Amino acid sequence: MTDVIETRQFADWMRRFAGVIHENAGLLTELDSAIGDADHGSNMDRGMSAVVAALDSAEFASAAELFKKVGMTLVSSVGGASGPLYGTFFLRFGSKLGDEPADAEALGSALRAGVEGIKQRGKAEVGDKTLIDAWAPALDAYDAARADGLGAALQAAAAAGAEGRDAATPLVAHKGRASYLGERSAGHQDPGATSTVLLLETAAATLA
Ligand code: ADP
Ligand code: MG
Repeated sequence: MTDVIETRQFADWMRRFAGVIHENAGLLTELDSAIGDADHGSNMDRGMSAVVAALDSAEFASAAELFKKVGMTLVSSVGGASGPLYGTFFLRFGSKLGDEPADAEALGSALRAGVEGIKQRGKAEVGDKTLIDAWAPALDAYDAARADGLGAALQAAAAAGAEGRDAATPLVAHKGRASYLGERSAGHQDPGATSTVLLLETAAATLA
């Protein structure tokens, strides 16, 4: 049987992610204090709180409508690099999903479209020590596991994302504020790759 993801589940994903971001805001900010400006936790927490408020105040007929709201809310409420990058992800993700019910294949294509948006906007590739280091292996693992079903694919994506996040820790950053540190950025876990893994883990918990 084909798994179909309801719009209600996508909303649950966003609410769950907002909660997990709130719980991990201290960790994300601590990671950003080592190689950035100590605001990734507060940026993401502010953005996702605004997303929850937006979800509370409207009904969404489709995933496309829902993620348009999510993306626009993040772009307008978060000043740091992460707001426009996460915002672009959700805008592209939602428009690729469109108005039809989403199955595992459609979800994979939409995730990939969202990540292409992040790459276009931030010009980062794998190895630059950004959220792309978590996303790229996650997308490949998702596709490789998709024949085993939506839940297996999302769990594989989250696990591969965590490996990618950890593989980036010894690297020197080439994009964003961390790149200003040059060699001194090596040996620190990337905050954006860390929040990306939280997004993938909450997807596995809510969408399958
Ligand atoms: P800022 O760097 O503006 O303070 P945040 O602290 O909220 O914004 O987010 C920092 C995270 O954003 C980094 O850990 C990194 O993963 C991600 N990031 C920064 N610049 C880029 C970029 N050009 N492309 C992709 N991700 C980036
Ligand atoms: Mg920062």
